Amino acid sequence: MIGAGPAGLMAAQILAQAGVSVHVFDAMPSVGRKFLLAGKGGLNLTHSESMEPFVSRYGARQAQMAPLLEQFGAPQVRGWAQDLGVETFVGTSGRVFPADLKAAPLLRAWLQRLRSQGVQFHMRHRFGGWDSAGALQFHTSGGDISVQGRAVVLALGGGSWARLGSDGAWLPWLAARGVATVPLQPSNCGFDVPRQGGAVETRREFLQELIGQTPTPAVGWTAHFAERFAGQPFKTVALAFTDSAGRHFSRRGEFVATATGVEGSLVYAVSALLRDEIVAHGHATFTLDLLPDHTPERVLAEVRHPRGTRSLSSHLKSRLGLDGIKMGILYEQLGKERVADPYLLAAAIKALPITVVAMRPLDEAISTAGGGTFEALDDQLMAQALPGVFCAGEMLDWEAPTGGYLLTACMASGVRAGQGAAQWLAQQARD
Ligand SMILES: Cc1cc2nc3c(=O)[nH]c(=O)nc-3n(C[C@H](O)[C@H](O)[C@H](O)COP(=O)(O)OP(=O)(O)OC[C@H]3O[C@@H](n4cnc5c(N)ncnc54)[C@H](O)[C@@H]3O)c2cc1C
Repeated sequence: MIGAGPAGLMAAQILAQAGVSVHVFDAMPSVGRKFLLAGKGGLNLTHSESMEPFVSRYGARQAQMAPLLEQFGAPQVRGWAQDLGVETFVGTSGRVFPADLKAAPLLRAWLQRLRSQGVQFHMRHRFGGWDSAGALQFHTSGGDISVQGRAVVLALGGGSWARLGSDGAWLPWLAARGVATVPLQPSNCGFDVPRQGGAVETRREFLQELIGQTPTPAVGWTAHFAERFAGQPFKTVALAFTDSAGRHFSRRGEFVATATGVEGSLVYAVSALLRDEIVAHGHATFTLDLLPDHTPERVLAEVRHPRGTRSLSSHLKSRLGLDGIKMGILYEQLGKERVADPYLLAAAIKALPITVVAMRPLDEAISTAGGGTFEALDDQLMAQALPGVFCAGEMLDWEAPTGGYLLTACMASGVRAGQGAAQWLAQQARD
């Protein structure tokens, strides 16, 4: 077993329960670092919705994920936690959390259980691929070692938050061994807006092109907006986006402004569509409804209502409750002159276009798309090109929004890979 995140630990559990002697190797000094980080946000373990909508969260990969989730889905994740002495509850949004919203007690109980089942942990062992004889190579503080496993489960994670251990370095090694992979991309990520006030930037980009450099898109809000509003939330807005292939997203929620763009739960939910649009066309434009509980007619009527000597800002605050970052973004996007036009302003309050031009870097993303393809694996998640080598978790080419779908899929694929490896070993022993 290589990789001691939730996918690898689940595969280790299945193998240990099958009576197999299991050795877990990991590059980091301690196990489950990303799992522990997820605990800082309350550890959303899974989601309580029924199987059909649950599976649909995996988009283009739902056909591959469905059999894994039918075997080990939300009820099994909750049962697993309970078995380790941790009760779970369903939050208002249907998301499932441990009762104490913490990851550490769950991880501690899990490790204790695994150790009692004989699983041995080898930390600070960085997997470096295979040597010419096909043995696994590990870099350790005491030098490089080779290990010949009878079966191997790779659960090396995606490529975000590399300081927690998952750096995606394995991708070319797998590809070199004949396992088809697709490049890692940020998923559930933030985005940058183009630098406001384009004339200067266009000139800069033109000059860069002239001297033969590839222009990097200049990104970010105006200094005024960034200084006042970076880190502040847009609370209950509705975000709508239709990509050039006609795929539509529309949802209410919250997100935050960053110094250079946007991030947070509502943005993460639409992030796969925005990312794909940026990759295809260089930019993506969504619209924000800043007052989703008001009809356009009501907004226009209130905006046009005589305001006497009051400033526009205090008028909008008293008639529509618009202030703070919502007023800020209107000025940012429309400019002072257009904000003064009641028809333009009312339309913008209900559908303010926001263009994004770049994903935030992979390392900042909550999760990763891309990795080892399902086509390269059999239905036990064994690599067709590497008999006896199984893959599980975020290193596989699927993605899902936040909501507990990530951890559930990691554990479900860990279960399947563990079972596959146990069956493979049993088969080898018979032959
Ligand atoms: C801030 C944050 C919050 C999150 N919150 C949630 C949440 O609430 N709910 C949810 O469902 N998901 C959440 N996630 C996502 C979830 O944590 C991951 O999808 C999950 O941890 C992936 O599990 P994994 O076992 O596939 O990989 P990982 O957890 O990344 O584990 C992979 C392991 O492999 C090891 N490794 C990698 N390369 C090597 C190598 N070459 N040699 C040896 N070892 C190696 C790493 O050290 C690591 O221990 C969150 C993620 C982040 C970043």
